[in-house]
Amino acid sequence: SNAIEFAGDDMSEFRRACEKVKQFMLGDNELKTIRDRLLENMRRGLDREGVKDAKVARKFKINTENLNQIGSENPSFLTKEAILVKMLPSFVTHLPDGRECGTFIALDLGGTNFRVLLIDINEEQIDMDSQIYRVPQECMTGTGEALFDHIAKCMSDFINRMGFADRKIACGFTFSFPCEQYAINSASLITWTKGFSATGVEGKDVVTLLTEAVARRGDITVDIVAVVNDTVGTLMSCAFEDHACQIGLIAGTGSNACYMEKQSNITKLDGLQDADGKMCINMEWGAFGDDGALDEWTTEYDRILDANSVHPTKQRFEKMMAGMYLGEIVRLILLDMCKEGIVFTDDALPILETPESFGTHMVSQIVDNQPRHFAAVQNILACADIGAIRRDCEIVYMVCDAVSRRASYMCAAGISAIAIKIHQNRPDEYLDITCGVDGSVYKKHPTFAKLLKVKTNELVGLGIYVNFRLSHDGSGKGAALVSAVSTR
Ligand code: BGC
Ligand code: MG
Repeated sequence: SNAIEFAGDDMSEFRRACEKVKQFMLGDNELKTIRDRLLENMRRGLDREGVKDAKVARKFKINTENLNQIGSENPSFLTKEAILVKMLPSFVTHLPDGRECGTFIALDLGGTNFRVLLIDINEEQIDMDSQIYRVPQECMTGTGEALFDHIAKCMSDFINRMGFADRKIACGFTFSFPCEQYAINSASLITWTKGFSATGVEGKDVVTLLTEAVARRGDITVDIVAVVNDTVGTLMSCAFEDHACQIGLIAGTGSNACYMEKQSNITKLDGLQDADGKMCINMEWGAFGDDGALDEWTTEYDRILDANSVHPTKQRFEKMMAGMYLGEIVRLILLDMCKEGIVFTDDALPILETPESFGTHMVSQIVDNQPRHFAAVQNILACADIGAIRRDCEIVYMVCDAVSRRASYMCAAGISAIAIKIHQNRPDEYLDITCGVDGSVYKKHPTFAKLLKVKTNELVGLGIYVNFRLSHDGSGKGAALVSAVSTR
């Protein structure tokens, strides 16, 4: 059976729905353009001259169009702030070699869950225990002091439960926000992202803030020996098991990637001694597009989402693919369609008008069905109090699929840019690398991982193959591994 058998003008509604969803469908040529723009951002972000140009451009608001051109394009997105992909040096210069050992506390802040972990590394084996703590909304958006007091309280609780309260213990801190680092154990927050906005933290060293909060309590003794981004932690823990791993990806609440870059390519850093050495670069690719580089593919729904977000105009690439936003994008599309009489009835309006009423987990559940299996989709919608007939379900499925697909393809464009960048160091050799991945979207969304893998390998071209590997608890374990490497 198909929709034509039904009474009314089903087809016209379906056609109108398709018309709106079309904007989310990106062809390979468009993805390659996105890939190449990101590559150009990467190059500039590492480069001394690129950084200088960006600063000058920011300061005098001059037009840098004449300074840089990509092929035949004359990109207006290079005219404002030239570097938005920050390409932050992590000061992690070595991947684990399996000889690391020790017992560490790790903190993992910035994803879906805040966790404290106890990690024991020895003989190529990692044992761990952990507890998830809540970060109350008031802490995320209140004062920095309250936030760090809360973190220290959870640490103290956990260390006591584990029976380590009378010992001085080394701690690795996974802090999943953009930070300027000058050493492995100091990191100053450049800007909050996602749902965080605690005051008095931007521009400060988060290791100092945490150390002070722990000292205010006075009941535990910890030595924070390393602070890492979650992407870096994920790369480290994946590399512990797989020596071909050179990329770390988070596809979760937020989105970001890191990779091992040749030190000689990081010309913005002075005094890197090891000409043949590498350093892990935290790209902070979420900010890609903040200068307009993605405007051609930004829909009205992306613009509404951005305007209502905690950090408007920021993290435009991230907002097209991270778990914090996918459900919201779907909600905004359905709301628009509902208002235009394409889907549901007016009864659904109050629900669709409520922010966060359509969670990313619902997008996952819906895409987990065959497009024509409408009873399952109908049930998922019923749980959210949305009454739906078959046609509604088909449209909802189509919307969820399109938004998910765009997310994985955007991510694939990003990973293919990294693989190509790494390959440029040894263009004559076949590159077979692993990308370690962690994050709720990668782990829980039914099609994201598969689409990411296939599309990445379509976009990298000949001579490169990218393998993806789930890194369980990577962001937490990785902080312990970096601690182990740095205390070795
Ligand atoms: C942050 C990154 C982080 C990513 C994934 C982004 O919002 O800026 O530092 O790696 O989320 O958690
Ligand atoms: Mg995480």
